[in-house]
Amino acid sequence: MQKYSTLSLVRNAISHHNGWQKAWRNPDLKSEYDAVVVGGGGHGLATAYYLAKEHGYKNVAVIEAGWLGGGNTGRNTTIVRSNYLFPQSAKFYNFSLNLYENMSQELDFNIMLRQAGLLTLLHSRHDLEVMRRNINAMHMNGIDSDWVTPDEVAHIAPGINMSEDARFPIVGGILQKRGGVARHDGVAWGYARAGDALGVDIIQMCAVTGFDIKNGEVVGVQTAKGHIKTKKVAIAVAGHSSVLAEMAGFRLPVSSMALQACVSEPLKPVFDAAIMSPATGIYISQSDKGELVMGGALDAYPSYAQRGNINTLEHIISGVIELFPCFSRIKLMRQWAGIVDIVHDSSPIIGHTPVKGMYINCGFGTGGFKATPAGGWTLAYTLANDRPHKMNEDFSLKRFETGAFIDEMGAAGIAH
Ligand SMILES: Cc1cc2nc3c(=O)[nH]c(=O)nc-3n(C[C@H](O)[C@H](O)[C@H](O)COP(=O)(O)OP(=O)(O)OC[C@H]3O[C@@H](n4cnc5c(N)ncnc54)[C@H](O)[C@@H]3O)c2cc1C
Repeated sequence: MQKYSTLSLVRNAISHHNGWQKAWRNPDLKSEYDAVVVGGGGHGLATAYYLAKEHGYKNVAVIEAGWLGGGNTGRNTTIVRSNYLFPQSAKFYNFSLNLYENMSQELDFNIMLRQAGLLTLLHSRHDLEVMRRNINAMHMNGIDSDWVTPDEVAHIAPGINMSEDARFPIVGGILQKRGGVARHDGVAWGYARAGDALGVDIIQMCAVTGFDIKNGEVVGVQTAKGHIKTKKVAIAVAGHSSVLAEMAGFRLPVSSMALQACVSEPLKPVFDAAIMSPATGIYISQSDKGELVMGGALDAYPSYAQRGNINTLEHIISGVIELFPCFSRIKLMRQWAGIVDIVHDSSPIIGHTPVKGMYINCGFGTGGFKATPAGGWTLAYTLANDRPHKMNEDFSLKRFETGAFIDEMGAAGIAH
């Protein structure tokens, strides 16, 4: 991996980066790979990196239809946390947060992790009672989570409407201090550069168009740039999982929905923590640039249109102004959406598919950025060993036959 001295930084700045070494190569597609990862979002890139690093795979390709991180990875609101309810999720997401905490060092790439806390607001006696149970469950699972009084909420979130007459009065909160935000592009680029350095071929602008399957076993991948022979395929395409599954001849229990977010003009620092409000259905954080980053619930119906509907945007904005009336005159700068894949128990699917040699990571819905390292790590393990790791065995497709669902909707109210 290239290191830059101060002198080389100055030289490159003056020469308009002429001769600046690319962070990853732009290789030609080979006709055969030991493993092919479909999808160059965070999960696909992490899978390829861990295949090379942890399992010694030397001949791996990541095939991406667009550009790296151009899907949900580059569209999300960057919240990381591990305050989930059930033991399986707590273990999985905490492992992910641990990997995040060491990621900048491991990948030698600053992912700008800011663990300034994740505050979930409580708005009613009912919220207090439910969260009391949840917080005990989190403590039993070893997840840090603290009660926060209304005064402490006002201190963490200056400007928040603490009036008892508010439509959704704030009666307290829970705080995961290890929660926070990380730079989404940095995570994709860090994994891409580190994977490339281990020999992973990253092929961009190359859609997968089909699979070759013989006697129930994958033997090849068809792409826009040619055909690949391979016996191992990992699929990590988030909102397009059912499209890829259809190409391979099976169905997935997921729906594809638009999820929106928006940012304001930059402001001076207001608060450090990310704030979620299940009752108003919104969440908000402030980026390092100063923009307020805001989001809410899913659009109302399945769609592949990466735009989102105006009524959902209005709902987000009215929720933000309900909580922070002082933000009502701030300009909204940008709005966008990503297509996320929703599973009805709000837990991911990571494991085998009905096709031998083909594995999938999907169903993270509105909250898979925080799972990027663990999603990649467990998918790589499952592919390399042809069996799930303890951490992802309960997240397989089998639960849709056995009914052993892991229903996580309750843990933080909003599932980001
Ligand atoms: C607005 C919004 C806010 C969010 N906020 C948060 C948050 O705060 N915290 C959190 O944890 N999560 C959040 N999420 C969810 C999170 O972004 C996703 O769960 C996560 O990024 C999924 O990563 P991925 O790598 O699986 O998918 P993606 O990043 O979507 O990557 C999949 C890639 O597959 C490619 N692809 C698709 N079809 C093909 C094909 N045929 N051939 C080749 N490539 C293909 C796509 O081009 C895409 O680049 C949010 C999502 C959105 C949309």
